[in-house]
Amino acid sequence: MGVDLHASAMRESGTAYRGVKLLHDPVHNKGTAFTAEERAVLGLKGLLPPRAQSMDLQVQRAMENIRVKNNDLERYVFLSALQDRNETLFYRVVMDHLKELMPIIYTPTVGEACQKFGHIFRRPRGLFISREDKGHIHDVLQNWPHEDVKFIVVTDGERILGLGDLGADGMGIPIGKLALYTACAGIHPTQCLPITLDVGTESKDRLSDPLYIGTQARRLKGSDYDELIEEFMVAVTTQFPGVVVQFEDFANHNAFRLLRTYQDRFCVFNDDIQGTASVTMAGLLSALKVTHKPLTDQKLLFFGAGEAGIGIGHLISGAMESEGLSLAEARQRCWFFDSTGLVTKSRTNLAEHKLPFAHDGVFTDNLLEAVNRLRPTALIGVSGMPQTFTKEIVEAMSSFQDRPIIFALSNPTSKSECTAKQAYKWSNGKAIYASGSPFDLVDYKGQTFVPGQANNAYIFPGLGLGLLVSGAERVTDELFAIAARSLADQVRESDLAVGRIFPALETIRTVSAQIA
Ligand code: NAD
Repeated sequence: MGVDLHASAMRESGTAYRGVKLLHDPVHNKGTAFTAEERAVLGLKGLLPPRAQSMDLQVQRAMENIRVKNNDLERYVFLSALQDRNETLFYRVVMDHLKELMPIIYTPTVGEACQKFGHIFRRPRGLFISREDKGHIHDVLQNWPHEDVKFIVVTDGERILGLGDLGADGMGIPIGKLALYTACAGIHPTQCLPITLDVGTESKDRLSDPLYIGTQARRLKGSDYDELIEEFMVAVTTQFPGVVVQFEDFANHNAFRLLRTYQDRFCVFNDDIQGTASVTMAGLLSALKVTHKPLTDQKLLFFGAGEAGIGIGHLISGAMESEGLSLAEARQRCWFFDSTGLVTKSRTNLAEHKLPFAHDGVFTDNLLEAVNRLRPTALIGVSGMPQTFTKEIVEAMSSFQDRPIIFALSNPTSKSECTAKQAYKWSNGKAIYASGSPFDLVDYKGQTFVPGQANNAYIFPGLGLGLLVSGAERVTDELFAIAARSLADQVRESDLAVGRIFPALETIRTVSAQIA
């Protein structure tokens, strides 16, 4: 950026920063990359080491620092600090090394970071809105320094990845997701606002940990909770007109309800329900290019009947309907197995979100038995329960499908229903596999498999960019179906040939633009 551009950018953002103040502003700081001319004009002489260095050199230094760290959590801490002092460099580093760094700024490492958030905490980012702010949320929003906010990712921390209630420590998730809006779809960082609703926690560890960053009280519930959310939604949409609100990692008893309450009133979506559905449907459509079977012939068995599973079930049954089945026929092709067992009509007290998929059938609490009885074409793990797709289950799937589709989507890696290696090995190399968190390449019987990652980042940044440029006022399910088909269309034969049912991560900017 030349001096004039830089100065005008600073005038526009209302921050006529110079000198030390400029170096401490992560949005405009360029570190050692300020040129001699800029240093003279902006009062930086002497405040920086004398040699001006290019962005490439800065990237090289950052990567040296990252690679020398002992573990991924330390890499996360380093990258957070970089984001806090020089956002331009942070995004250059992330974008140039997306495959290497996405697992750090997002799942799986962000999960560990959230678990230890209070212990690795250095500097705040985003807004914390606590239960004490009820009645004054509008005032809290006034403290945010940027006016042109277009994307809010908000969590209440009750169900962080598959890790449970982490309370305010869940802030790592909105921060990480919004970083992906910028890295994957070019949304300006100042248009992104991470928010944590600190409504308490049921986590005993956090309630007694002196370093916990949130309010040490049990969760708000019932009408107190609902009123806080209502005030929040009205306040953010008033303060930031046209903003897209992405609900993230709410527990499923609130997630479905909040989506239903707000999706026709504001521009909102729930990434765990709808984004996951979209990326998984894309994975399934790609897998069908390998099996050469129509979508309407599929029978899916979901292990886990929460936000992810039910969201996928609805989107895919909708897609089957658009390809000729009645909705009832389409739903009949989606079976669910939850913590009690197979979701059948005979069960009492089923949660409301499971009812559309409760079918006639004999109940079993044994997954292997359900697999043998239903003979599904695809088994989709969204349970948060690790190592539950056993050798017997994968072998059973392989005995009645030439190419069994096995998605083990639970995050982080430690929670996945089976690893990529297990799926390939137990299916004798036949499984079409995808996971939620990334797995390394697998060499099996002379073939190298590239396991696909059903990463929501393939969908939400591109979809968000589309919402932004079109000025859409609502986020409909149809948009997620279109995004899924667009993503599947971008998978190449060369991807499928190595077992990857998603495009290479390095192409994600193009993928996002296409989806948008
Ligand atoms: P959720 O809490 O809404 O649902 C979990 C479901 O699993 C519930 O229906 C529960 O009954 C079921 N379950 C729990 N224990 C079980 C057991 N022992 N046997 C069978 N079922 C059991 O959570 P969610 O939002 O649906 O997420 C579930 C998992 O999916 C998480 O690990 C999450 O990280 C992962 N996920 C992956 C992606 C992705 O890969 N893109 C996206 C979203 C969620």
